[in-house]
Amino acid sequence: MKLNKIKLLDKFGKNIIFKEDLSKYSWFNLGGPAEIFFKPDSIEQIIDFLGTIKNFHKIICLGAGSNTLIRDGGFKGVVIKLSPKFSYIDRIEKNILEVGAGTLDKTLSRFAADNSITNFEFLSCIPGSIGGAIMMNSGCYGDEISNILISIKTIDFNGNLKEFKRSQIKFNYRGTNLPKDLIILSAKLQAKTGDKSLIYEKIKNYIANKKNSQPSQIKTCGSTFKNPKDKKAWELIKDSNCNLLSFGKASISKKHCNFFVNEGGASSEDIEKLIELVRQKVLEKSNVRLELELKIVGDTNNNG
Ligand SMILES: Cc1cc2nc3c(=O)[nH]c(=O)nc-3n(C[C@H](O)[C@H](O)[C@H](O)COP(=O)(O)OP(=O)(O)OC[C@H]3O[C@@H](n4cnc5c(N)ncnc54)[C@H](O)[C@@H]3O)c2cc1C
Repeated sequence: MKLNKIKLLDKFGKNIIFKEDLSKYSWFNLGGPAEIFFKPDSIEQIIDFLGTIKNFHKIICLGAGSNTLIRDGGFKGVVIKLSPKFSYIDRIEKNILEVGAGTLDKTLSRFAADNSITNFEFLSCIPGSIGGAIMMNSGCYGDEISNILISIKTIDFNGNLKEFKRSQIKFNYRGTNLPKDLIILSAKLQAKTGDKSLIYEKIKNYIANKKNSQPSQIKTCGSTFKNPKDKKAWELIKDSNCNLLSFGKASISKKHCNFFVNEGGASSEDIEKLIELVRQKVLEKSNVRLELELKIVGDTNNNG
């Protein structure tokens, strides 16, 4: 199905970009162009947009791009990224925060700390958005977003709004059973009062721990593979002598060998080839097939 680009531009003007360079939106700083990039300002605009492209379902949603490798051929479809209008935090009741899905985890963690709300400390270490955190069930230091979630507001790619309660969603390690054709718009989260100085202290310790154990200021999307049951992906990678492997300008962080890195000038294909190489070597050495935590989206350059 072909999209009527002139109609889209007429209707959505500045919220639509054709051939937008997606490398700007991934922490790897990699990826080709999106055929159509839509940055909606409101739920009404999303409904209108989805109605206009009716039956065109080659759509993906991007959050902060801190867990997503976009292929070199870009995405020959529609990429939806919520505009800053979806970045907000409202304390709607003493014990409930309503948070726009585009809000950065770190912003929310800081807001919670400043307002003596506990259990959001771990979010200070995760560089994504709340939408991404929910889709990935992100977490660290024994906490994860599902522990503080009450409900989410969503819209599917047909334009149907739906609210999911926490109990209707099955969360697992770095994932959920939420349908793929869904945009998370906002979330209600449990706000529990805590001791402000303890909250700040916890955040300080978490950030210091992360600095010690993980690289910073590099082009990476964090952990490439999930930890298999009772095992650490980084240990398996190290035991297979993969930590010094590279492919073109794609390499493995010296500080944390589950973090793959674009050293500058890598292609997404280089990263994918390195992923496959490491997977193969770990399989040969430990008989474990590593599962990706990273999301890979888009088209290879060969798809025409
Ligand atoms: C340095 C570094 C450290 C990291 N440390 C951790 C860590 O400690 N723990 C951890 O769990 N993760 C960690 N990550 C991974 C990453 O930050 C998380 O997975 C994060 O929650 C992803 O959020 P995002 O907004 O960047 O998602 P994206 O990468 O943009 O998207 C991830 C997935 O979520 C979907 N998605 C995003 N927003 C929406 C939305 N509004 N509606 C529907 N779907 C959506 C996308 O379609 C995609 O499938 C780290 C990454 C980096 C770079």
